[in-house]
Amino acid sequence: MEKIVYVDNAATTPISAPVLDAMLPFLKTHFGNPSSIYSVGQTAKKAMEEARATIAACLGATPREVYFTSGGSEADNWAIKGVARAMQKKGKNHIITSKFEHHAVLHTVQALEKEGFAVTYLDVHDDGIVRIDELERAIKDKTALVSIMYANNEIGTIQPIPEIGEVCRRYNVLFHTDAVQAVGHLRVDVVEQNIDLLSLSAHKFHGPKGIGALYVKNGVVLQNLIEGGAQERRRRAGTENVAEIVGMAKALEIACEGIESQNEKLIAIRDKLIENLLKIEHTRLNGHPKKRLAGNVNVSFSGIEGESLLLMLDANGICASSGSACTSGSLDPSHVLLAIGLPHEIAHGSLRITLSEENSMADVDYILGVLPPIVAKLRSMSPLWEKITRKNA
Ligand SMILES: *Cc1c(COP(=O)(O)O)cnc(C)c1O
Repeated sequence: MEKIVYVDNAATTPISAPVLDAMLPFLKTHFGNPSSIYSVGQTAKKAMEEARATIAACLGATPREVYFTSGGSEADNWAIKGVARAMQKKGKNHIITSKFEHHAVLHTVQALEKEGFAVTYLDVHDDGIVRIDELERAIKDKTALVSIMYANNEIGTIQPIPEIGEVCRRYNVLFHTDAVQAVGHLRVDVVEQNIDLLSLSAHKFHGPKGIGALYVKNGVVLQNLIEGGAQERRRRAGTENVAEIVGMAKALEIACEGIESQNEKLIAIRDKLIENLLKIEHTRLNGHPKKRLAGNVNVSFSGIEGESLLLMLDANGICASSGSACTSGSLDPSHVLLAIGLPHEIAHGSLRITLSEENSMADVDYILGVLPPIVAKLRSMSPLWEKITRKNA
């Protein structure tokens, strides 16, 4: 088989072997509905509640505070719409978020704007990090919710979550964080970090797709998003996806055990990649060099098109991304790169490489062998590059 180097782990990760093994019995023998009272159902129910406890433990939460959803997008929608609609009844109709959230958050708050909510979009500056003093100044009497992502999916920058949570507590405002890129990759503790609601998704840490969870701190009032049966203590209807819930818990258990050692290994690989890519002239690193996820590399090469670069990398067996998977297919540059102040033409020449524990130094060496000649070739054909070099001559 041809060599494949998969370095698009922020888009999704493969299910690991122990996760698949944990899931299979619940697709075969233990197929029962957890709401049924006979033993086949109760076996499923027991496994589901064990999974909830495992996930809660990894977040520093209690099992009663963890609700299963169909993934990160649903968790984000539920947290934001659920809190906004509950708080509206108390006369609070203002939401604060940032300019570089995932579309699951941005499009949700935009939908609420159409319903009459006011939204403040905080700047993320050129390093991709929100500022605490700007958050504090944005809070008003009518502020219902602050939603700021834990770590960005495109440029990997990690936000000052405990400090954001502390400001929210001080002003009595609820704090939601989209932690889809953080859970399983960074130490998350909802109590120590002052988090009221938190979204996670299994397929970003070697679990299955289509399953996630929302942490809701005890006592937080939010409206239901999905109405129907009495599942999830009447807060989220629908027969539970038991096999995937079990798989998600297994994946998180494995990820949480190894966070520090994996990050140490990934940072070494990441920094070697960054250091060598920056040797290519007219190349910039996007996002803070250190306050970023251990597996995230995001660079812009002036004078080329990210899409052409991706196609040529693919021809060499390298799976990477030019921004967010959701925006490929459209010609607009990534809203994240624009939010950190990149001009359109530089944002267009961007490449995101996201590593996981399955990647090695050998993968990085392969990329560093293949990539620079491709950049050189694309530049040699680019009128934009000709303009840049003429200007500098
Ligand atoms: C992937 C991702 C989501 C969406 O999660 P799904 O489970 O795919 O719906 C939301 N936010 C961030 C930051 C993500 O990376």
